[in-house]
Amino acid sequence: MDREAVVDLGAITANVAALCELVRGSQVLAAVKADGYGHGMVPAARAALAGGAAWLGVADLDEAVALRRAGITAPVLCMMTFGDPAEAVRHDIDLAAGSAGYVAAVEAAAVRAGVQARLHLKADTGLSRGGATPADWPGVVAAALAAQARGSVRVTGLWSHFACADMPGHPSITAQLASFADAVAVAEKAGVTPEVRHIANTAAALTVPESRYDLVRFGGAVYGLSTLPGGAPSWLRPVMTLRARLAMVKRVPAGTGVSYGHRYVTARETTLGLVPLGYADGVPRGAAGLPLVSARGRRWPIAGTVCMDQFVVDFGDEPAAVGDEVVLFGPGDDGEPTAQEWGEALGTISYDIATGIGARVPRTHPGGDH
Ligand SMILES: *Cc1c(COP(=O)(O)O)cnc(C)c1O
Repeated sequence: MDREAVVDLGAITANVAALCELVRGSQVLAAVKADGYGHGMVPAARAALAGGAAWLGVADLDEAVALRRAGITAPVLCMMTFGDPAEAVRHDIDLAAGSAGYVAAVEAAAVRAGVQARLHLKADTGLSRGGATPADWPGVVAAALAAQARGSVRVTGLWSHFACADMPGHPSITAQLASFADAVAVAEKAGVTPEVRHIANTAAALTVPESRYDLVRFGGAVYGLSTLPGGAPSWLRPVMTLRARLAMVKRVPAGTGVSYGHRYVTARETTLGLVPLGYADGVPRGAAGLPLVSARGRRWPIAGTVCMDQFVVDFGDEPAAVGDEVVLFGPGDDGEPTAQEWGEALGTISYDIATGIGARVPRTHPGGDH
C-alpha cells in the first residue's frame, strides 16, 4: 500500500441495517451514484443490499446499466432525467420523469423494446431542479396515465426532493411536505396507484419522520456521512479511510521554502515527509496549512501548497521515516480527522471530500467483496 482508500463494506452493511431499523415500515433505497459516493459503486451496492436495502439509486442511465451488467437485479431508480432511456428500459430500470416530453421518450423506448417501462413521476415541490412545477404537474400525470393506458408504461412512483433538509426547522421543509402531499393527492385522484411515494434523503429521514413515506432515499448515511450540522449521528460509521505511506523523508535547514510558491518556509531545522496524494487525488488545494493529517499518533499540518500528485508535511524533530502511515481521514477512532472535519475545514461538505477522491487511488476492501 502506497496510498489507498480503504472501504469498510461491513460498515456499509451495518449502516444500512441500522437505517432499515430506524425507518421500519418504509423501504430503504441506497444511493450509489457517483461511484457510490466515491466508495466504489458495485461493492457498495452489494453491501447495501446485504444490509437490507430494497432499492438502489443512481443519477444517470450509464450508472444504472452498469449495476445490471454487474448482475444486480434489485430495483434501481435512475434519478436524473436526461439521455436516451432505451438501454435502461431494456434493463428494467425505474426511470424518473418530470415532464410530458420525458414521459413520451420513456414510452417510445418501451414500445421499441417491447417491454413495460417503470416510471416515477417527479414533482418540483420547491427545489427548482428536476421535477414538474405544481402548474405543470397535472399535465405530466395525465401524459403518464395516457401512456400507462396504452400499456407500455407503469407509474410505479411519485416523488420529490428537499432543498433544505439539512437545515432543521427551515420553513421550506414543511412547505415542501405540504406541496408533495398535494402532488400525491392530485396524481392519486387522477388514477395513479404508485408502489412507492418518496421525498426524504438522509437529512430529512433523520430529522423529519413524517417525510419517510413508503421509501427513503439514503445516500450519505449509507457511508456514515451526513450534511446535517455536526455530521452523521454516531451510530452511523464512516466507511472510508484515506491513507498513504511517506514516500520520502529529509532533513532540511531553517529558512527552507517548501513546495510551489514557497508558501511555507521552515522556521528551524526540521524533518519533511512527502505524502503521495495531491489535488488530482482529491486532496483539496485549499488544505495548505491545515492540521488535517494524522501520523505517528498525532496531527500534523500540511506544509505549503498541495501539488497535483503529492504534498509535504513538516514533522519537526519527530523521527518520521519512509513508509510511515499517514491518515487523512477515517472513522475517527484513533483521533484521525473525519471526512466531516475535512469538509468543515474546507468550507464544503463531507460528500464533496469523499466523491472527490480520484480514480488513481485504489479502493481496497479489507473484508472482501460481497
Ligand atoms: C443523491 C440523492 C439522494 C441522497 O441524498 P443524501 O443527502 O446523500 O441522503 C436522494 N435523492 C436524490 C434525488 C438525490 O439526488
